[in-house]
Amino acid sequence: MNANLMDKIIALSKRRGFIYPGSEIYGGLANTYDYGPAGAELLRNIRNLWWDNFVHKREDVVGIDASIISHQEIWKASGHTAGFADALVDCKNCKLRMRADHLIENNPSFAKATEGKEEKVEGKSLEELEKIIKNNKDIVCPNCGKHDWSSVRKFNLLFPVNLGIVEGDQSLAYLRGETAQGMFVNFKNVVDSTRVKLPFGIAQLGKSFRNEITPGNSVFRTLEFEQGEIEYFFDPEESNWEKLFENWKNSMWDFVTKTLGVNKNNLRWREHGNEEKSFYSKKTEDLEYKFPFGFKELWGIAYRTDYDLKQHMKFSNKDLSIVDPQTGKKIMPHVIEPAVGINRMLLMVLSDSYVEEKERIVLKLNPKLAPYKIAIFPLLANKPELVEKAKKIFKDLSSNFVTVYDGRGNIGKRYFAQDEIGTPFCITVDFDSLKDNTVTVRDRDTMKQERIKISELFTCLTNKLS
Ligand code: ATP
Repeated sequence: MNANLMDKIIALSKRRGFIYPGSEIYGGLANTYDYGPAGAELLRNIRNLWWDNFVHKREDVVGIDASIISHQEIWKASGHTAGFADALVDCKNCKLRMRADHLIENNPSFAKATEGKEEKVEGKSLEELEKIIKNNKDIVCPNCGKHDWSSVRKFNLLFPVNLGIVEGDQSLAYLRGETAQGMFVNFKNVVDSTRVKLPFGIAQLGKSFRNEITPGNSVFRTLEFEQGEIEYFFDPEESNWEKLFENWKNSMWDFVTKTLGVNKNNLRWREHGNEEKSFYSKKTEDLEYKFPFGFKELWGIAYRTDYDLKQHMKFSNKDLSIVDPQTGKKIMPHVIEPAVGINRMLLMVLSDSYVEEKERIVLKLNPKLAPYKIAIFPLLANKPELVEKAKKIFKDLSSNFVTVYDGRGNIGKRYFAQDEIGTPFCITVDFDSLKDNTVTVRDRDTMKQERIKISELFTCLTNKLS
């Protein structure tokens, strides 16, 4: 674990307006975070690229936006009210509550014993987890250092909400624990109201909520987070699931390495063993990224058969099968689900682009991801003629690029700040600009500066940023 790097990323995120601790002025609220101006832009860029790549650029995928507050029956049908539970254990000495699997996995002797092996604790029964913890005296509380654990118990992750304002007359609903159920519940609506034909996908981007208890590691695991999920429906008699599964894996890999520009040496695939996989899944794999705290799941892909649609048929009493218009054949579609967390992608992108050089820290973000593509400075912020010209350039460029005007401190400080935000180009308006209508354009990665005519800025930056 590179704790040092993680601390540096967290500090930079706060300093430059990417990520702030949630409810900070009230002492903070565990496992919640707020995104600042740079973070909001970065999230938006990741989200938009995901949607563009998996919805707009595919003729076989459509997008929906379902409600977050959802009927309790949805979560009974999906199995979440019964099975969506973590195994928890309490330290009897200091009352710290932890996920039992994480407690074991983070224990140095377990990590050593399983080094290089693909062993996971996830999926083990309550009894098995309890036995491991009780038998390993060196599994101590990370807070107080004692080995004094309660028994291991289940804890449901769904957030209940009470609808209605009259007490006693309220009805129970849930904040969605995943976006996926929106696709199953609306499956028939989409089939009946659009042009889709098997095989096709329904995609959704949006917030999900889980009452997670393991704190730490910034936005890796939070109570509310954004998911990008696709349910890809197909007729198992017409399509080969192994082939579709491989195709989706390739699309996921390409998105991370090519579209987001992440280093492929920091990525790996890991297949779930039988213990870890859901009972209805024929195959599940995780695309893992090497975060500063180790390889962890970024994006999961699972072949879920027809389990979900069948469950909703059973609970809703509605027929969710479809009929082939040509042959009249009744089909119960099967589904492959690639599911990613947008906030985890953001943390991955921050870790992957963080570079320390001799005299500066730079986020070498892919320009497509950079919160601002261009920063514009007047050489001196107290010279109205420079400010006016710089603001005019800001106005002209900002209709085509996300641009920021920065008039604080001196030029050196501004470069330093924009490097840490990952801004690919900085433009400075100086006294020569007033005479010859040229400006200095400085490249984030090479730090080289060149003089460009203001009239040519748009074309020049369009080329550089493409
Ligand atoms: P984990 O094992 O890490 O809890 P999961 O297998 O429960 O994840 P899924 O239900 O498959 O996760 O959700 C799909 C994706 O959503 C994950 O790959 C991850 O990127 C993201 N995700 C899940 N839970 C959280 C969370 N609490 N905070 C942030 N992102 C999350």
